[in-house]
Amino acid sequence: MDLVRDLCRFIDASPCAAHAADSLAYDLGRDGFHPLDAASPAWDLTGGRFYVRRGAAIVAFVLRGPTPQRFRLVGAHTDSPHLRLKPRAAYACEGCKQFAVEVYGGALHNSWLDRDLGLAGTVWSTDGHAASLRLHKPLARVAQLAIHLDRKVNEEGVKLNAQTQLAPLWGLGGDPVADFLELLAQGSGIAAGDIAAHDLSLYDLTPATIGGGRDEFIFAGRLDNLVSCHAGVQALAHATSGDNATVPVLACFDHEEVGSDSDAGAGGPLLAQVLERIALACGLGRAQYLAALAGSVMLSADMAHAVHPNYPDRHEPRHKPQLGQGPVLKNNANQRYATTGATAAHVRALAKAANAPLQDFVARSDLGCGSTIGPVTAAALGIAVADIGAPMLSMHSARECMAGADLAPYVAVLAAHLRG
Ligand code: ZN
Repeated sequence: MDLVRDLCRFIDASPCAAHAADSLAYDLGRDGFHPLDAASPAWDLTGGRFYVRRGAAIVAFVLRGPTPQRFRLVGAHTDSPHLRLKPRAAYACEGCKQFAVEVYGGALHNSWLDRDLGLAGTVWSTDGHAASLRLHKPLARVAQLAIHLDRKVNEEGVKLNAQTQLAPLWGLGGDPVADFLELLAQGSGIAAGDIAAHDLSLYDLTPATIGGGRDEFIFAGRLDNLVSCHAGVQALAHATSGDNATVPVLACFDHEEVGSDSDAGAGGPLLAQVLERIALACGLGRAQYLAALAGSVMLSADMAHAVHPNYPDRHEPRHKPQLGQGPVLKNNANQRYATTGATAAHVRALAKAANAPLQDFVARSDLGCGSTIGPVTAAALGIAVADIGAPMLSMHSARECMAGADLAPYVAVLAAHLRG
């Protein structure tokens, strides 16, 4: 239950990817990890617990001995689908102040209707200073059309045009541009006239909560994939003991939900550069670094589709992970998940050693399959990867659902892997 409550705290502190990276840095700092400056050529790795941040991505590691020979990695992502403000966000229409928004990632549009929305992210001044912003109040709302004006909605479903029908209301009357800049100034401490740019996400204000008749569930936004970021930190913090030649690494990337191709995404060079710099700081040569990569394994940790009791036929009949029955090993013949026979065997051995149950997921052969940072990382680094996750429902909804019982075995499997 402590793990469940701590996850709820972590999610509530992480309304967007930038704040999730702040939360990770905070938790890692609490566990004795120190920040390293990627722009500094000299890394002193005395002390053994470090993290590197780039934008909303964080790579953390534990150096247990002087001569690393391999890495054991856990990869996750800090971002989640949401509505993001456009650069010229504020406008007025029919007496209402509104925000122009883009849909970030594969959001379930309807899940954003009629929710009390806050605003979080980063604001930049004209001199390049970045300020964190969080307006944690019911600022905005995407109002659904009344059924009287949309008589067939229950038969035909809610179809929302992303350009015209997802714009939230956030006030009445006044000057939308001046009022918006004033809001940003109050939230960021940067004077309205000095605001140059922003990265701002809307988020559901409802806090993460424990639900169900016997407190079985966690209901929250952004379970995909803050659960794996949180579990990764728990696992890494307990990776002090283990093989001294193995370096446990936690990589939490940004931009997974939009394809990973960015400086803070799994498709960029961030992880490879951090691993190589660990090797160089330990006095290894290029050949030793490449040899270390060849002996490394990553678990790509991301949420998995539990079977939905209202739609059991959407799952492959013999691969239907259930809520509360433990972590899920994900397979796809077309490498949408990076699991291979060899890495599947590795994960089964970890689960056995950790005394954790393990479920299997394969998509129906006639349905498409999601993907993760797993295949991206395997392709970029040439290391073996298995895709695992915790089962959940309502993936990519503004409000998702999982079972609290799945957290402890998930952390146990990740920790067994990182111990090496
Ligand atoms: Zn995900």
